Amino acid sequence: MSQRFIVVGGGMIGLAAALGLRQQGHRVVLLERGPQPSYGEETELRVSAIAHHSRDLLQQLGVWERLPTARLGPYQAMEVWDHDSFGRIQFGAHEVNQTDLGAIVENKVIEAELWLAAAEAGVDLQAETEVLKHSIADDQVSVTTAATTYTADYLIAADGVRSPLRQAAGLPMTFWDYEQQGCVAVVKCSAPHGGCARQVFLPSGPVAWLPLGDSHHVSLVWSADTAIAEELKGLSAEAFSKRLQAVSDGALGSLELASERAYFPLRMQYTRSWLAQRMLLLGDAAHSIHPLAGQGANLGFGDVQALLKLTNNDFGHTELRNWERERKVAAVQMITAMESFKRGFAGSNPLLKLVRGIGLKLANDVAPLKRSLIKSALG
Ligand SMILES: Cc1cc2nc3c(=O)[nH]c(=O)nc-3n(C[C@H](O)[C@H](O)[C@H](O)COP(=O)(O)OP(=O)(O)OC[C@H]3O[C@@H](n4cnc5c(N)ncnc54)[C@H](O)[C@@H]3O)c2cc1C
Repeated sequence: MSQRFIVVGGGMIGLAAALGLRQQGHRVVLLERGPQPSYGEETELRVSAIAHHSRDLLQQLGVWERLPTARLGPYQAMEVWDHDSFGRIQFGAHEVNQTDLGAIVENKVIEAELWLAAAEAGVDLQAETEVLKHSIADDQVSVTTAATTYTADYLIAADGVRSPLRQAAGLPMTFWDYEQQGCVAVVKCSAPHGGCARQVFLPSGPVAWLPLGDSHHVSLVWSADTAIAEELKGLSAEAFSKRLQAVSDGALGSLELASERAYFPLRMQYTRSWLAQRMLLLGDAAHSIHPLAGQGANLGFGDVQALLKLTNNDFGHTELRNWERERKVAAVQMITAMESFKRGFAGSNPLLKLVRGIGLKLANDVAPLKRSLIKSALG
């Protein structure tokens, strides 16, 4: 039976949910406080490593084929090493009989194409529209903006990590501050990246170089303890490039900053209830994790995929509770994995360095262990 949904938040996750629900015949209005997403010639700073299951969802929504090939950075290999030990692991898609391990795509490119597809499918899209208040009753929800009040059967909060809807509903959360910031930028490299996503673990946090469509450009995600991040902010472009070069161990030849830099505070956040009567939380509104394995958006796309499976049939509170339970397990597993990685690679205790050196070497040399690691990296 067709239901009415209000989706708040036009990021990748809210838009994917809105489009999928509309394609199933539901009536959907999406409210986004920012402008309609768009992109130009310049590479955007925010990118995501899109895993196979997220690509499958975007294909199912008819959006993947709309993404311009020049803006896709498929990667066939990954290389992860520890700056302070002999530990290094390399793996390729062929080791698990795949042609790639995923693709690096700019968030804005995905958002812009999702938006256009959603408009064509008949989602009522309202840009530059902020939610001022909402209410949830037993039989319906309503949301008030400066212009009007919308009513529907369900409200989806996909309004990001700070989620005003979650805050207004007073939903309890578990969170901790990683006391790190993520610096993102586009970097030019003299050696071709060869479709390899690289990440080095420094005692102060991981630094990742993700291959973009252009073989001499990578997207940088430098996660660093707050004090180091503050220091990086103060560096000129030239000094920053030199510092980056030093931590790269020469993996990509010489490196040069090719864009502005943007910094994001990194925090683990997990909302303990993702379902409040007729309101559901999706994506970063429900969970946010460390970017070290590039899985935050992938988790959100997983939420959408699971939701669309149940909204395709008659559903009610029991089915939504089952959805919440299933997705919470996925989120908690990811949070736990990120935490052990982060703790395992932090600091420069000599014993820990030896253990992680041996651990990475073992993982690299023992085929079944390596295959299971590749499968986890595939999401
Ligand atoms: C440095 C960094 C690197 C990352 N790298 C990766 C990666 O490689 N792979 C990966 O999978 N993930 C990655 N992530 C995580 C990923 O970026 C997020 O998980 C994803 O963007 C979340 O999408 P979302 O749609 O849930 O939220 P958002 O993109 O935050 O969208 C929320 C939207 O809601 C709107 N909004 C908020 N409040 C209101 C309101 N009151 N009314 C109307 N609209 C409102 C906002 O304007 C916004 O457009 C990374 C994160 C960081 C910080």
